[in-house]
Amino acid sequence: MTQDRIPLAGVIGSPISHSRSPRLHQHWLKRYALPGYYIPMEIASADLESAVRSLPKLGFVGINVTIPHKEHIMSIVDLVSDRAALIGSVNTVIFRADGMIHGDNTDGYGFLENLRAGAPDWDPKSGPAAVIGAGGAARAILASLLDAGVPEVRLSNRTKNRADALQSEFGKRVQVYDWVQAGNMFEGAKTVVNASSLGMQGKPEMRIPLDGIERDAVVTDLVYTPLETPLLAHAKSIGCRTVDGLGMLLHQAAPGFERWFGMKPEVDEALRAAVLR
Ligand code: NAP
Repeated sequence: MTQDRIPLAGVIGSPISHSRSPRLHQHWLKRYALPGYYIPMEIASADLESAVRSLPKLGFVGINVTIPHKEHIMSIVDLVSDRAALIGSVNTVIFRADGMIHGDNTDGYGFLENLRAGAPDWDPKSGPAAVIGAGGAARAILASLLDAGVPEVRLSNRTKNRADALQSEFGKRVQVYDWVQAGNMFEGAKTVVNASSLGMQGKPEMRIPLDGIERDAVVTDLVYTPLETPLLAHAKSIGCRTVDGLGMLLHQAAPGFERWFGMKPEVDEALRAAVLR
């Protein structure tokens, strides 16, 4: 690539119009006065490989990947990072100068950075974590909580065999609770995470009994529309430290931006405001 070629990045998915990533990256590009553009691109599954392979030729230095391409893209990239392999999906792609296409997953990193920023005294080793959900996001949460040193992860999901599959993959530190007994997971849990879509605008409400959540737990929700979900509102009302899900979206974007545009960006209030606007 010539020196003066303006670097391009973007997000691919289908649908893509709802994505907040363009606002986020454009905010950083403007803030750091860097040359570059970040573009949302709707790409159908059948066109994924040819589209991705043509992007470096157009000047792209990398892309984010969202639903429904996060798993499929793993078979297209040349290299998959260890953490992406563990999570089983790729959300960040780097088109390297040597022509190799590198796939990474920053969801677990974003999740932990958000918890550490929102609850600085959060200690993963202080006790069990309770996780609701066993979809794609839950895999990243499980991998990162175990890596951070949580002694036990309790997991409950409406479709139990998805939770069982995660348990067989991630091992004995994961304990599966039946969906009808999900409320029992909270006893003694120091970290509580909603990694399901329950509580999201337009989705069903969470009916799990929350009264077992203890005051000294740090409670976080991956859902960020609304910012204060019923789970977070309940946790706040009993005195828990709570961390909303928007921060995870912001933090997971930082490693990609740094690789593509050469500057480690800051996650701050101005960024939150730009994304919420
Ligand atoms: P997914 O793979 O589709 O999984 C959805 C999860 O929600 C599954 O565990 C599913 O249970 C559960 N669920 C859906 N409807 C349900 C219902 N009516 N009753 C009980 N459980 C239900 O989605 P995902 O990618 O894991 O994402 C999960 C949530 O996290 C979404 O709201 C997403 O927007 C959010 N998210 C946020 C961030 C962030 O940066 N803050 C990042 C990633 C994801 P079943 O297995 O039984 O279907």
